[in-house]
Amino acid sequence: MPQIKVLSQEVADKIAAGEVVERPSAVVKELVENSIDAKADRITVEIRNGGIKYISIEDNGKGIPTEELEFAFLRHATSKLREIDDLFEISTMGFRGEALASICAVARVQVISRTKDAALGSMMTINHGVFSQKDEIACNHGTTMVVEDLFANIPARMKFLKKDATEASYITDVLGRIALANPQIAFKYICDGKEIFSTSGDGKLKNTILNIYGIDHAKAVYDVDYTEHGVHVSGVVGKPELARGNRTRQTLMVNGRYIKNHVVSKVVEEAYRNILMTGKFPFFVLSIDLAPQLVDVNVHPAKTEIKFANEKEIYNIVHCGVKNALYQIKNEGSQETAQSAKMHSSTATTVTDSARVESAPDRKIIKEFLDRTIPGKTTIGAVDKYTFKSPTDTSADNKPQEYSSAIGQPVTFKLQQKAEPMQSENITKEVKPQETQEQLVLEELKDLPKNEEQMPAKVVGQIFDTYVIAQQGDKMFLIDQHAAHERRRFEMLKADYIAKNTKGQVLLSPIVLDVEAAELQATKDNCEILSDMGFLIEEFGKGSVIIRETPYMGDEDEIKALALEVISALSDNRPMGLLSFEERLLDMISCKYAIKANKKLSILEMEGILKDVAELEERGITTCPHGRPIKIEYTKREIEKIFKRIV
Ligand code: ADP
Ligand code: MG
Repeated sequence: MPQIKVLSQEVADKIAAGEVVERPSAVVKELVENSIDAKADRITVEIRNGGIKYISIEDNGKGIPTEELEFAFLRHATSKLREIDDLFEISTMGFRGEALASICAVARVQVISRTKDAALGSMMTINHGVFSQKDEIACNHGTTMVVEDLFANIPARMKFLKKDATEASYITDVLGRIALANPQIAFKYICDGKEIFSTSGDGKLKNTILNIYGIDHAKAVYDVDYTEHGVHVSGVVGKPELARGNRTRQTLMVNGRYIKNHVVSKVVEEAYRNILMTGKFPFFVLSIDLAPQLVDVNVHPAKTEIKFANEKEIYNIVHCGVKNALYQIKNEGSQETAQSAKMHSSTATTVTDSARVESAPDRKIIKEFLDRTIPGKTTIGAVDKYTFKSPTDTSADNKPQEYSSAIGQPVTFKLQQKAEPMQSENITKEVKPQETQEQLVLEELKDLPKNEEQMPAKVVGQIFDTYVIAQQGDKMFLIDQHAAHERRRFEMLKADYIAKNTKGQVLLSPIVLDVEAAELQATKDNCEILSDMGFLIEEFGKGSVIIRETPYMGDEDEIKALALEVISALSDNRPMGLLSFEERLLDMISCKYAIKANKKLSILEMEGILKDVAELEERGITTCPHGRPIKIEYTKREIEKIFKRIV
């Protein structure tokens, strides 16, 4: 008997099917993608028993012509690809012509389909690869595929399936993501007779998020919209409170196709550095759109993984896009104000209820907008500068430090030049007050209620020499003094660093530090970064350096320890985005500066901390650079509940 045998078509089909449809969720994915390719704008998915017993996908797409019905189920039969060159310009979901062939090799499939212009549709059953005859049938235009008894003929694969509920959860997950990728399609999803979600199909991502994840998610997101070199990154990223212990709520689309790409997840997570605690993963729904030639979708049979042609650049663009969204948090209010101003100036508002909740004008934000836009006041180019002096400032000269709050200036992250009112260069032009948006906003400002919450917080006291207690309206705050101050310091250092404004302090007696060869080299190689951070460190004989200037004036041991920490991090040369690496270095410095825990503070110092917290919060920053929370709060009501004064 020969050792090498050509597999029978049936066995080959089953093997191939295993690659494409490894579980019910993969069947749902393939079939729904076919519906999308068929330009359906209404897709209903119904499953029973985790999809193992029954999956039905009904669409109102273009349908399959009767005479072509059986071709759809042949391997490598596709209407989407003709020539090999097409492969690089593919914009449909499917193109391998494998899915239907694979599915019908391992299940019983019934298809009913009618094209718009045909009077009658046709129906056919394929029972584990065996075709029934075709019948004419009166039906709606579009296609319905019913897949039953999946893997009934492959017991080995059956064994790999999980419990019905688990398989169902995979389907819910996949379908949710596809729905997010296609806000213009109305999806309805029914599991074991119960409707799990339905999306409106109105084209608005936030509404789809609302339909799938609920109002909490729809409200707590920042828009991402960034283009560079023809690569467009759009969608939303979640506020820190939406972060989870796993990546299940991260959705990535490339050219409309839902895909998995761990590197992109990592890049996004990297942008959240200093915002999220380690082990927490941000919520996001992001689309990357770029020339199809720049992606190879053909690397994975189920097409869930892709390869980018110029990976590094694309990752960089994603990073910038997300970072901009996160760091314009401060501008977020201004954007909303712009939006509300727009709403006034034109009646064509398409804002939905949920969006409106978000865009409710905030007094502070409006004021900021006005400060920025009133001619003769501050202009965006000059960026609002303000002085800050920490009560515990240990800097030698002790003069107030001026720094720019423009954390997102182009030096490190590239800001998108969008035609937003506060970003346009013509802000400084003469503006006629009568018809300006500013006027409208002013009016809005008048109507806003002044409530206690907008009054500044008041210090109540300090506990355990570590936490500041404060009250604002009917809220009580507990603030971690070190976390708050460290973050504030960190933001200041970063702003200075970006603006190349950091001034080191000259050491009267320079400090000599022994270092390893690699560290010495790193010091020489990175003298610019070091000097931007306020260090002046030079080579000093063999195996040592001399510290002449330092950003932090402590005692000799402290300065040595800090310099060593920074130098050894530099020599480590970890493969991280430069920005986050620099941030880490800055964090080392800010940690030294910050008020420590277990330190009694004066009222003045505590007030300084409250001011820090308020300024950070204004920019949406609520954690220390390592991601620990700065402040926790209780409302009066919550406290009353604890004491059972109210129920
Ligand atoms: P591919 O999607 O890679 O082309 P499939 O095996 O998934 O391969 O589908 C084969 C063909 O069947 C498609 O190219 C398409 O012409 C047709 N088809 C499948 N599903 C549908 C549908 N829901 N509506 C219209 N045509 C469909
Ligand atoms: Mg397909």
